[in-house]
Amino acid sequence: MLSNSTNLLRLSQGQLNLLERCPRQFQHTYLQQLNSPSDPEHEERQTLGSRFHLLMQQREMGLPIDSFLQADAQLQSWMSAFANAAPDIVTPATDNQTFRESEHYRTLQVQDYLLTVIYDLLIADNQQAQILDWKTYPKPPDKRKLAQNWQTRLYMYVLAETSEYLPEKISMTYWFVQSEGRPQNIKFAYNNRQHQQTEKELNQLLNHLTTWLKLYQKGQPFPQVVESSKACNYCQFATRCQRTQATEDTIKYPLQNLDSVQEVSI
Ligand code: SF4
Repeated sequence: MLSNSTNLLRLSQGQLNLLERCPRQFQHTYLQQLNSPSDPEHEERQTLGSRFHLLMQQREMGLPIDSFLQADAQLQSWMSAFANAAPDIVTPATDNQTFRESEHYRTLQVQDYLLTVIYDLLIADNQQAQILDWKTYPKPPDKRKLAQNWQTRLYMYVLAETSEYLPEKISMTYWFVQSEGRPQNIKFAYNNRQHQQTEKELNQLLNHLTTWLKLYQKGQPFPQVVESSKACNYCQFATRCQRTQATEDTIKYPLQNLDSVQEVSI
């Protein structure tokens, strides 16, 4: 949720993605808080995803999880496949020099905004810092699209800005625990050039947001995407925006992007 704490607007990667995809959709969703029609299948997937995140967090904290696994065959199967695919993450060697924390929360102020990130797991030692993220939907997205997603860009940017690690020492790995066959991962390295690029794009987007918010306060709505945009075909606000009405199927099965299947809302 967008909130106004200590006069800074709090923004997550999901909100940046939405703002970039369609400013009007951002307005409807976060400023007007208009609800999307609920999709029971989508909600069920989200619940299962949230339970997997919780389980991983409890395991990381050293709490017992066997009773949860015994009660849920799906979670048990994901966890055992993941433990086989990534034993060094699930059962790491004991090492006092390595920092590990699940649901690691950081904030960074940029302009009048407080950017917030939550890493599913952060593993850091005196050499490098790795951000890990669990995804529980079946098909990993295209790597180029994932690289451009604000989750990838913002998560590494914030860590570089709020720690001693040089960009080159930071990486981000997505684990897709439910991929057909066995869990798969997509890893992104980082460097100073990407860091500068993200900084530029972030400031541009936030400059736009500042302008749009000022105009909105004077009664002018946020801009829409161009009429022919595919984004409208998958948008629940098509009628409100007087764009082609999305069919039931396209609303029910929207573009698979990270935000539409965000397991843990920030
Ligand atoms: S219908 Fe199109 S213009 Fe309107 S909010 Fe959705 S994506 Fe944006």
